[in-house]
Amino acid sequence: MDMQVSFLDRLFESGLLIDTGVDGLYGRSGEFEDVIAAFERLIDRTGGGDGAEAIRFPPGMNRAYFEKSGYMKSFPQLAGTVHSFCGNDHDHLGLLQCMEEGNEWTKEQKATDIALTPAACYPLYPTIAKRGPISMKGGLYDLQSYCFRHEPSKDPARQQLFRMREYVCMGTEAHVTEFRQTWMDRGVEMMKSVGLDVEIDVANDPFFGRAGRLLANNQRDQNLKFELLIPVTSQTKKTACMSFNYHQDAFGSKWGLNLEDGSVAHTACVGFGLERIALALFAQHGLDTKLWPENVRKVLWG
Ligand code: 5GP
Ligand code: ZN
Repeated sequence: MDMQVSFLDRLFESGLLIDTGVDGLYGRSGEFEDVIAAFERLIDRTGGGDGAEAIRFPPGMNRAYFEKSGYMKSFPQLAGTVHSFCGNDHDHLGLLQCMEEGNEWTKEQKATDIALTPAACYPLYPTIAKRGPISMKGGLYDLQSYCFRHEPSKDPARQQLFRMREYVCMGTEAHVTEFRQTWMDRGVEMMKSVGLDVEIDVANDPFFGRAGRLLANNQRDQNLKFELLIPVTSQTKKTACMSFNYHQDAFGSKWGLNLEDGSVAHTACVGFGLERIALALFAQHGLDTKLWPENVRKVLWG
């Protein structure tokens, strides 16, 4: 933890991250953003030839879709919902008085139709399902979104609002598992090309509670999730900077994603944790991008 705090302090001192007073909620400097933009161009160069359809959703999603996704069953501890004041003049006076007295005022806030997006791909499945059957050639989508997860931490690599770039593939089992393997290979090559030390390992999502342990074990046993790990604040406890997820036909069945032959689509997604990748680069090459190794600068900025 000390290493994490000291790295966070150095990021604040250098101005790369900006303290907001909330752990895991940071501003980013122009230089930090420039690294993310450069890395996204590397992603574009690597995946651009695949013909993915680019779609950008805002960082909030339809709460009805969020509920249907089952997120509250698996990860209630991470979820964020948007609440607003929905009262009349009289309620407003009560609200201001409550705040004036320093009392808890948020209890009266009402849930809106928006939940914060927990992973960039969540709004995609219902969107594609509405379009009707997916071509037998499969569907490929390029997404990027800020995502929210309620897990305050002093580890700069664990943020509450962070960006995820994703490619999502829908098709047959063979198609989507090949897509996932292709990106595991590409991910390793991309990270090596920017001077990062990488390792791929089987992983699980942080399913909640006792029942969650079973789900996590099952996910591991079936090799459904892999992560690309890079040392950021620790050589021994490395940070997941990419994940490679095979959902089998779980999302296909849930959302009614069918292929043209009537079979249920399998899906897989590959996620880049953009802040984590930038932090891995700063940890490896130093806090001044002008002093990064020439070969790394060339890959990122040409
Ligand atoms: P996953 O859906 O696999 O949990 O997340 C996809 C990717 O988003 C992860 O591999 C990681 O790079 C990034 N990510 C997940 N959680 C966090 C977090 O708390 N903070 C940051 N900065 N990135 C995260
Ligand atoms: Zn995803």
